[in-house]
Amino acid sequence: MRALAAFMVLLAWQAAALAQPPYYLPSNPYYAQPAAVQSGISHFGWQPNGWRVSESKHFIVCHRDDAVAERVMRIAEKTRTKMIDKWFDDGPVVGWPGKCYIYVYGSADEYSWKTGTPALSPGHTSAKWEPNDASRLTSISVHVRIDYPSMFDAVLPHEVTHAVLSGQFGTKPIPRWADEGMAVLSEPSVEIEKHKQRLQRAYDDGKLYGSGDLMQMRDYPSGDEKRGIFYAQGVYLTKFLCERKGNVVFANFLRTAQKKGWEEALKKHYAFDNFKSLDDAWHDWLGFKAKKDNSKTVSSPGGWI
Ligand SMILES: [Zn+2]
Repeated sequence: MRALAAFMVLLAWQAAALAQPPYYLPSNPYYAQPAAVQSGISHFGWQPNGWRVSESKHFIVCHRDDAVAERVMRIAEKTRTKMIDKWFDDGPVVGWPGKCYIYVYGSADEYSWKTGTPALSPGHTSAKWEPNDASRLTSISVHVRIDYPSMFDAVLPHEVTHAVLSGQFGTKPIPRWADEGMAVLSEPSVEIEKHKQRLQRAYDDGKLYGSGDLMQMRDYPSGDEKRGIFYAQGVYLTKFLCERKGNVVFANFLRTAQKKGWEEALKKHYAFDNFKSLDDAWHDWLGFKAKKDNSKTVSSPGGWI
């Protein structure tokens, strides 16, 4: 019990430490000047809180290695620009409250210990906003771990996409299925294809969600299998709708749905009268009808991001 109490105190201390900005910020003149500046990237070296800190135009990275931080910032800046252009056609977007923090942990254990997230997870994004208005962000941070094999190629673009999407859909937060669908579509095609395999098996087993159920879910379903199906459907429903009318129409469809409901948004942007006509068209597009091979195997998801 005493060990548990000590652990809880430690967790609270870690949470408080993470909530503090790095000490180099201009409000602290001792750290106002970077140790090195290179092509829009500044390195501020070790800070009293145990992180090295680097900064680019839109990101502040807390890390342990300047070369890693440079790679992280280049990917993050590129992903941010690409996602704004992809989903909002380079139009006006809701700004972040300052720069987005990216924490690069050294291991799954450190990541889990400092964030309270299961060590199986490759990373996550944390967005906070003012009460009853998701478009008024108060903080935004991305958390990844360097030991995850596809951290640079898949996890980081995925999480930065979540950060870009935060706050862009009115007073309500972006629906989970679309948030994950759009984030996974930022990953390499080999990662996207894994969700197709999972979707095929769920279809064969009769375990797919109806699109109405999927769209109205406020949070992730519990259990690995259901969560895997939820992700796979989110990805391939997003892909289907984007191929039908384009990425920007899809983003506008989400905005309409937040204000007027899903079925009205489906009618307005895609001319589907109801969820059933969407499901029928989506199943046709997937081309799953003739396939009934239950012996397929699906690779382990390795955690959700
Ligand atoms: Zn995600």
